[in-house]
Amino acid sequence: MIDTTYDLIVIGAGAVGENIADRAVQGGLTALLIESELVGGECSYWACMPSKALLRSGIALRAAQAVGGTREAVTGELDVAATFARRNSFTSNWDDAGQVKWVESAGIAFVRGHARLTGEREVTVDGTVYSARHAVAVCTGSAAMLPDIPGLSEVTPWTSREATSAKVAPKRLAIIGGGVVGVEMATAYQSFGTTVTIISRADLLSNQEPFAGELVTAALEKFGATVLRGVETLSAHRDDTGVTLTLDNGTTVVADEVLVSIGRVPNTHDLGLENVGLTPGDWLDVDDTMRVSGFDWLYACGDVNHRALLTHQGKYQARAAGDVIAARALGTGVHDNRFGKHSATADHEMVPQVTFSDPEVASVGLTARAAEKAGYDVRVVDYNLGGVAGAALQADGYQGQARMIVDEKRAVIIGATFVGQDVSELLHAATIAIVGEVPIDRLWHAVPAYPTMSEIWLRLLETYGRP
Ligand SMILES: Cc1cc2nc3c(=O)[nH]c(=O)nc-3n(C[C@H](O)[C@H](O)[C@H](O)COP(=O)(O)OP(=O)(O)OC[C@H]3O[C@@H](n4cnc5c(N)ncnc54)[C@H](O)[C@@H]3O)c2cc1C
Repeated sequence: MIDTTYDLIVIGAGAVGENIADRAVQGGLTALLIESELVGGECSYWACMPSKALLRSGIALRAAQAVGGTREAVTGELDVAATFARRNSFTSNWDDAGQVKWVESAGIAFVRGHARLTGEREVTVDGTVYSARHAVAVCTGSAAMLPDIPGLSEVTPWTSREATSAKVAPKRLAIIGGGVVGVEMATAYQSFGTTVTIISRADLLSNQEPFAGELVTAALEKFGATVLRGVETLSAHRDDTGVTLTLDNGTTVVADEVLVSIGRVPNTHDLGLENVGLTPGDWLDVDDTMRVSGFDWLYACGDVNHRALLTHQGKYQARAAGDVIAARALGTGVHDNRFGKHSATADHEMVPQVTFSDPEVASVGLTARAAEKAGYDVRVVDYNLGGVAGAALQADGYQGQARMIVDEKRAVIIGATFVGQDVSELLHAATIAIVGEVPIDRLWHAVPAYPTMSEIWLRLLETYGRP
């Protein structure tokens, strides 16, 4: 029989929940992990892994076709069935046995079921009450937001879950929403031969530097997608011809499936938040040690705290929180200063993110607009990535753009964005420069190897001018 009292109870065994439980156990605590669906969560089965697997084959084919010599050798079409089969292997065919085995091997107790908070340090699963000696961590993630468009629910729209787990590609796909999920799924399904229409209220990737959305839009259109910007969907209707979406510009879009990707809502509606004085359906507001405002025992990590809806940031929060829960429980000292090990400081202005479109968009830190809004003394430095020898070698006619944002007061970089093929691997150097607050004059001594795409760093510094 499983114990019902643990030092830490973690609700939700996504990537984030797994990590916080692991850190707490490594720190000397006992931990119970509770999961209602699959251990590994959204990222493993309906988000990062399947989406990137669906994208990779088409992008690799295009990359091969962009290099003289390989272009002549690689003349076939994408094998869509093989691409879906490869995606299936990355999701372990939606079987979490391997991850459950890992949880048990890490010394974490595991219960499958829907958990609800039923009191202070108390969690109930299927009638069994569990108590936490020190802390409860909510790591329940987020779900797709569905807009209130007349007729939409009747046409059974896809969310990111259906888009990433589909068994076949539809002939025509309409995508409502031009953020990361919409753009990535447009790129993937376009590579499968699907006719894609994106319906976006704003420009694509509107939270990024404007040139990111412009270059991605141009590429999607070049390969046959229709990108409608500044439009809203008024209604949806399905009949024998497919789904008809009526837009506020008086036109219609007809498709076989509709993907809705307009944002996320927190998985907090059926969590018993009302039993501890919180509001069901709300995001959970936390401090930098991931403790929920107003509580000394309740923590929230990952998407559910709305700080940065990305697996790597959630896991970063989980490392800090797992460690600080153990430190508080054992009285070994809390290090919650700016770059202390118990503080998820980078969440605020140092978050890296890649949109795996073609071209890729890799960014970290602040955009020019966000930096100005935050009151920094901003200098924007732009360079055409296609002008870098390493990029020209990477692909014939390489097109891309780079931008670095400098805080002039301190002469340090506070933001960087790269758009182009394979730029995701340029990102971590920028993240290190930003988190390390490396002075620009020191960066001159970080010499990029020739001829690599990293020479963009030298070009950006030359454009900035040597201090
Ligand atoms: C299509 C798509 C692609 C993405 N691609 C990337 C990417 O490439 N890189 C990246 O960094 N991020 C990506 N993300 C974001 C990433 O998936 C999330 O940031 C990440 O999954 C959040 O992890 P989490 O552990 O907080 O939540 P989740 O992964 O959602 O895990 C939460 C878990 O809690 C469980 N749960 C919920 N309520 C309860 C309850 N009451 N009781 C028990 N269990 C419960 C759920 O079943 C779930 O397993 C993508 C998102 C989407 C939608």
